Amino acid sequence: MKDNYNKSISLRCNTCGDSSFEFNEDKSWVKCKRCDREYHGGYDELVKFNQGEIDEQVSEMKKEVMQDIKKDFDKMLKNAFKGNKNIKFR
Ligand SMILES: [Zn+2]
Repeated sequence: MKDNYNKSISLRCNTCGDSSFEFNEDKSWVKCKRCDREYHGGYDELVKFNQGEIDEQVSEMKKEVMQDIKKDFDKMLKNAFKGNKNIKFR
């Protein structure tokens, strides 16, 4: 299993779909560099527009984690039984 499942989800402009933005220090104001659309709700507003995509990414990530857990579990099981031929009954 990986230690880190961090994925970067790039937020996209709701108007033009571009992902390069200009923003102020606390991200309470964001502007799309391509179409100049301003998001006065800032970063939060942008996240809201991208929520569907974010949810999708999160559920993809969950799937990936589950698969990795299963893989690890299979490996563990195999390892657990591997040593068995060395067990001697007296
Ligand atoms: Zn834009």
